[in-house]
Amino acid sequence: MSSYAPALITYLTRIRFEFGALAALGEELAFAGITRPLLCTDAGIVRAGLADRVRAALPAGMEMATYDGTPGNPTEAAVRDAAAAFRAHGADGVIGLGGGSAMDLSKAASLMATHPDVPMSNYAVIEGGLARITDKVAPIVCIPTTAGTGSEVGRGGIIILADGRKVSIGSPHMLPRVALCDPELTFGLPPILTAATGMDAITHCAECFLSLKVNPPADAIALDGLSRAWRHLERATANGQDREARWEMLMASMEGAMAFQKGLGAVHALAHPLGAVNNGTLHHGTLNAVLLPHVIRFNAPAVHQKFATLAQVMGLTVSAATEEGIAGAFAALSARLGLPATLGAMGVPRTVIPDIAVAATKDHCHPGNPRLASVTDYQDILSAAF
Ligand SMILES: [Zn+2]
Repeated sequence: MSSYAPALITYLTRIRFEFGALAALGEELAFAGITRPLLCTDAGIVRAGLADRVRAALPAGMEMATYDGTPGNPTEAAVRDAAAAFRAHGADGVIGLGGGSAMDLSKAASLMATHPDVPMSNYAVIEGGLARITDKVAPIVCIPTTAGTGSEVGRGGIIILADGRKVSIGSPHMLPRVALCDPELTFGLPPILTAATGMDAITHCAECFLSLKVNPPADAIALDGLSRAWRHLERATANGQDREARWEMLMASMEGAMAFQKGLGAVHALAHPLGAVNNGTLHHGTLNAVLLPHVIRFNAPAVHQKFATLAQVMGLTVSAATEEGIAGAFAALSARLGLPATLGAMGVPRTVIPDIAVAATKDHCHPGNPRLASVTDYQDILSAAF
């Protein structure tokens, strides 16, 4: 029976989750063995005053350098700049502060500052990079300021390589030693980013749960995360100061990433290459929100028996436990959040369909999809999303 197939399950991250968790930064840096950190973040986070709050939370006398050049989607060039800043400072660890891009960049910088200076494609999961990443990676502490990616508990990052491919670079050695989750740091996130990043969390939970790989703990975490996000994303979007909604969304985001140790699927296999289109300016969460209903329809023959559980967790009626009921509920939530409904509305040119469809079959998330998708299948899913 397929549900008794072999399972490989790994869970162990130190997570400090509370309002005001940032005050424990000194203690957690000591736990991680970091005495001279490089802060990896982006210019918006600095403008919002969050980098200053991190600096103020440092132990007296600790010297921290800052790299704030993280692009919307992190690039190999930016990672190399951050690694150079690490070496120039004589750093012994990194703090990743921000959304998924800044946290992913912090992990990749920690890798590149401590490993042979070869093209980063050598470290990509799809190129066998896992075996080249050693315990030399400098310790990482991640502090999320968005609720969506969950990168603070993820073991890698998504990087746009110098050759234009958007790939995953990851290893257990790149797992942050500590995730410092402070919902107060998400209060300033604007409504549209709250909505888009929140849909990323929802997609992680839904896509993991629907994957046919065997990982019951991941399934349970994914369903808990989906339930929290489903009930609180609109509240957090409508009122960024809603403490309860912000706490719930940060928890859902973290749970989504804990769950995706199990593996994601076609939504992410498509969203990754699409993230490199239009100079890497398309928001990952928004892409997921657009694609999720179409992938659910495609996957329905393989996963329809799971729709009743999803409907229950999402508070839908029993009659909505169908392919259209579930896909429609996700699309309706996106619409209520004010997110675009189609790739066209996001500014994606139709001409990219053939290349994205091919790239999706090479993405590390492709094999995890419950129904094996061909290039033609991906073309059809993309066409439906326009
Ligand atoms: Zn994602």
